[in-house]
Amino acid sequence: MAVKELNDYNINDVPELFLENVDSVIVVDSKTDTYRALTRRGIFEKYIEESGSYHDLIVKLWFHIGDTNKEVTEDYHAFADSTGDFDGKYSRRIKIHLDDSEHPRIAQMTVYPFDDNQKYLFILDELDEEEMLQEAHTTKKISTIQSSYLFSMYIDLVQDTTSSINITEISDNVVNSQLKYSDWRMMIVNMFMPEDQEQFLRRTDPEYLKKNFAPGKTSSYDVMMRNLEGKFIWVKLTFSRAQTFVEGDYRFVFMVQDIDENSQETLSALKKYEELAIKDPLTTVYNHGEIETQMHNALTSCQTNGDVASVMMIDLDLFKDVNDTYGHSVGDTTLKLFSGLLKEMAATNNSIAGRWGGEEFVVVCLGKNSNEVSEIAENFRKEVEAYEFPDIGHITCSIGVTELTKDDTFDGAFDRLDKAMYMSKENGRNQVTIL
Ligand code: GH3
Ligand code: MG
Ligand code: MG
Repeated sequence: MAVKELNDYNINDVPELFLENVDSVIVVDSKTDTYRALTRRGIFEKYIEESGSYHDLIVKLWFHIGDTNKEVTEDYHAFADSTGDFDGKYSRRIKIHLDDSEHPRIAQMTVYPFDDNQKYLFILDELDEEEMLQEAHTTKKISTIQSSYLFSMYIDLVQDTTSSINITEISDNVVNSQLKYSDWRMMIVNMFMPEDQEQFLRRTDPEYLKKNFAPGKTSSYDVMMRNLEGKFIWVKLTFSRAQTFVEGDYRFVFMVQDIDENSQETLSALKKYEELAIKDPLTTVYNHGEIETQMHNALTSCQTNGDVASVMMIDLDLFKDVNDTYGHSVGDTTLKLFSGLLKEMAATNNSIAGRWGGEEFVVVCLGKNSNEVSEIAENFRKEVEAYEFPDIGHITCSIGVTELTKDDTFDGAFDRLDKAMYMSKENGRNQVTIL
């Protein structure tokens, strides 16, 4: 076009200006599911066929995974039809993955519905390098923020509508969907394992949601779900009812969060480390720090809630002789076996057992007064006395018992406990003393 001044342009220049600057113009008939490209230039020349099915076009433009040209698994194509429904102008960025280029190309897509929203005009235009770089920057930020969420949406049970469906791996933009909630439910249920489908339908049933969710209530559960690649992954499904004071207002937010592999592994690794950090490695009962914490907690709940709790201190008798006579490793084995008995006793009595140090143990007994605990202690003493340990045969233990009181300090209670145990030693070992 010849160089002209602004005043030289008129309405007749529009088509030429338009066609010179826009890469592709497509007309769509949603009713017959067909499209026809009026012009295809640049990357669109090869990427888009001259005509074809509208559904396939949507899948091609939309349904690939993140920054790859991997196609989204077939089940999710069910969403393509609602994705391609427009009842107003719509504009977004799309990523185009060409076979010969490593990075996706970014294009602007604008949709103008016409003919009672039955037909659409699609305008596609590739961004230049500069625009693309900026775009990539923002997209990266968004996807980092959203990486753990597969999608989220709003639901209105009364209107039976969904909105703002966001399938992050498919798009960083909200999908302009007019999908009914009831239809959505029946489509998404196929993404779960057959044995989990009934549970999903039950928990997403409008009547169930209305009955079980007070305004503001949130509830979630973990389940395996097919991801966009068709692979089953662990996800957390969360339903949250909007806070409302209007009767008959049932709006919800629904979210699917990826908790697969990495996050699952991290969680279980954390749990493992947490366990290790509070256990004594030799005996696998709780360690000094943890049992001290447990005793502190018991004292606090006694002081603030009036809960009853008692503690036991157990020291093995003449244990030094075991080491001296049979060696340290036999001593270790004895400690392990003794701890096994101790753990069992604690488990059957709502109690927590820990190793205070060396051959000395503390048991925190929740909900029990000193009489009850001294009976437990006496039974345990007898059990240890009767137990046949390998190599050494028999060994005994001395036990002190005390009940925690409202007026106790931690040190005060512990001194009393220590003293009770010491009295058992003084009075000839292998006995229980209450203080
Ligand atoms: P008492 O009846 O007065 O308690 O006599 P005792 O010999 O049990 O008491 P003492 O405190 O003199 O000795 C405790 C012994 O416990 C000393 C130590 O060698 C042994 N011991 C402490 N921790 C361990 C351990 O982890 N493994 C082994 N094998 N022995 C331990
Ligand atoms: Mg001892
Ligand atoms: Mg000792």
